[in-house]
Amino acid sequence: MTDPRLNRRTFLQLSGVSSAALALGVAAPIGALASAEADGAQLPDGVFGLGVASGDPGTGSVVLWTRLAPEPLAPDGHGGMPPRPVPVRYEVATDESFRQVVRRGAAVASPELAHSVHPQVDGLDPGREYFYRFHAGRQVSPTGRTKTLPAGPDATFRFATASCQAWYHGHFTAYRHLVQEELDAVVFLGDYIYEYGITAANLWRAGAAVTPEHGVEIQTLEQFRLRYSLFKTDPHLQAAHAAAPWFVTWDDHEVQNNYGADGSRYGVLPEHFVHLRAVGYRAFYENLPVSLSTLPEGPDSTVYRRSGDGELVRFHVLDTRQYRDPLPVDTADQNREDRSILGAEQETWLYDGLAGSTAAWNVIANGVTVAAITTNRTDQWDGYPANRRRLLDAMRTTSNPVVLTGDIHKHVAAELKADFTDPASATVGVELICTSIASDGDGAPTDAYTPDWVRHPYVRLYDGRRGYVHVTLTRDAMTSEFKIVPWVEADADAPLATVARFVTPAGAPGLERLA
Ligand code: FE
Ligand code: CA
Repeated sequence: MTDPRLNRRTFLQLSGVSSAALALGVAAPIGALASAEADGAQLPDGVFGLGVASGDPGTGSVVLWTRLAPEPLAPDGHGGMPPRPVPVRYEVATDESFRQVVRRGAAVASPELAHSVHPQVDGLDPGREYFYRFHAGRQVSPTGRTKTLPAGPDATFRFATASCQAWYHGHFTAYRHLVQEELDAVVFLGDYIYEYGITAANLWRAGAAVTPEHGVEIQTLEQFRLRYSLFKTDPHLQAAHAAAPWFVTWDDHEVQNNYGADGSRYGVLPEHFVHLRAVGYRAFYENLPVSLSTLPEGPDSTVYRRSGDGELVRFHVLDTRQYRDPLPVDTADQNREDRSILGAEQETWLYDGLAGSTAAWNVIANGVTVAAITTNRTDQWDGYPANRRRLLDAMRTTSNPVVLTGDIHKHVAAELKADFTDPASATVGVELICTSIASDGDGAPTDAYTPDWVRHPYVRLYDGRRGYVHVTLTRDAMTSEFKIVPWVEADADAPLATVARFVTPAGAPGLERLA
């Protein structure tokens, strides 16, 4: 019997590709793959069932992603793939018909990483649109569109923010509209999946049905993989990934509701919780277009990162879960000067990156609400007031800081004050909180939480329906548009509406509402 596995030693002999890059699905010597094509030819049909994606664009680079899964909902979480490595080739072109291919490469999709690949493509031109696709055996993936960040200050940069996609609560109608926007990027702010068991009680997505293995709360790597697969079966989500590069960070539900560092809110001991975190972080890496720098080592994974060395925009992507101090035990603890939601290392990294930025706009992708709303909301930055003061101070050292937030399943626009105890203090930046894609179902313009938010003069908008935020940046101004769909539970047919538009002039932080 012949060993169907690829001969890794052959690869290594043929090129300078490191064994780590090979094993981790980042790069492989393209010439060595010819002999493996016959191997790929035996794959089940439909290996690109989870689509394609790109992410973390820089001015000259982007990460490409796919995960082979001919049967995404195979109950064992393996996506219908045989348990062996499979070679994947990719090509990047300047045109959609791939007549002008500018990069080709290869990577190995290994079962250890759920047959995902994360090749990084370098040497691209700034501010340019590219198209990419993958090949496995004789199968060709759908084509993805991506774009590099602009280098000079004179571009117009358009992106959307999204978060909280509880697939079982509704249709991804917002993505159906988002893909029409021809965006430069999408920023995803957490809760890409939810870990809860899906049962008749929470399955509000009309027409959807799930088999019993989806009914349990997630505990294993295979269950996490299956959950990502289930959510990714939504065609509008796949289309949104294929339409633009994404910056992705996580919030709590990629592991467990409201966790912090190694602390579970459900009494799981830290010794056990780190196992859950390890498999949750690993499945996040496997399923999203993030670079090798995010590959977890055990329960640790570096998700905070920066992108953009051009003059228009720099993205600072934060992790507000992994390093946070535990919930405060009392008010004195909550107000402790050394209390941190980012952790000391990430704080230093962020403040250095803000102060050292030469970009006109500094966009901070963040999980939970920064603006002061109520001291009872200790899961947000309200639980970390000293860290918030340090962040607000650091925002004064940089050009046009903008915080993007998810988590609350509502649209909120807020001005960030130098001192939230003094509403008359200077505005140092703005916070654009995007509502959920589907979590909490249809929603309504106002709800029981509205008064908590709108009582603050610096909160300029509240809306409880589903949707996304559309942002346009030029050297002179930022325009933010809050988009909603009136329903998501019944079907994916709801039209798109804009509930509010704001302008933030460069050099004049604040939100000027447009009609
Ligand atoms: Fe959420
Ligand atoms: Ca959350």
